[in-house]
Amino acid sequence: MSGWTQEVYGRAHRGGHIETVKKNLKELSEARIRGNHYDIFVGVSYHMYNDNLGDELNKMREYAESLGYVFMLSWGRTICIENTVQALRHLEAKRNGSVRPYEIGKDGMDLNTMFPPAKPEFLKSMERLRFHPEKAAAFYSRWPVSPVCLIADVFCEIRWDGRVQLCAWTDDMRLTLGNYLEMTQEQISAARRGHPLCKECLRYRLNYYFHITDCTNGMGCWITRLPITTH
Ligand code: SF4
Repeated sequence: MSGWTQEVYGRAHRGGHIETVKKNLKELSEARIRGNHYDIFVGVSYHMYNDNLGDELNKMREYAESLGYVFMLSWGRTICIENTVQALRHLEAKRNGSVRPYEIGKDGMDLNTMFPPAKPEFLKSMERLRFHPEKAAAFYSRWPVSPVCLIADVFCEIRWDGRVQLCAWTDDMRLTLGNYLEMTQEQISAARRGHPLCKECLRYRLNYYFHITDCTNGMGCWITRLPITTH
């Protein structure tokens, strides 16, 4: 979640109602107490933006902890590769006058015509981010540059219909690699290698931006580099 009030929560969770979320959190907590299920880990993950810190964050932390949940923090990021790459290419073209075209895929896939242009709403929502994806290259400069994305081989995103997605952070169903039950891990990895979207993603070093978490407490804390100001 990303706010205590509807006004702030609704900025990132379009169509969501924070009072419903709070009510459900309370019901779940009560069910946990009734069933004596303290052995089940339940965490509340709060995405931080430039405009939802301070009271918004502190009130939600207080509420979540009062219900017995572990409160976890991570910086909001634009985790949708297609939109993020398109947005970065748009910004690069604006800065430099042009951007190189996507390479054509082995199967003839042409992302130059397949993806819609970056949407103004998306570009605007990026302004809320403390950690803009344009900073990824500098932020992760101490991590080795790799011509292939090894991290994506660790996660295998299988869609409801059994097809393997290019990676966990893509949504477009045209970006699938084949049927999970008919492929070996080696074949899945080979199908991902050299994909034109991966090449752009790696060029901007978004593979790290998407995959390395920066929780500040709770589980899965790999790194924390940005100062958190909640007051
Ligand atoms: S390079 Fe980017 S798009 Fe390709 S698998 Fe890795 S994170 Fe996903």
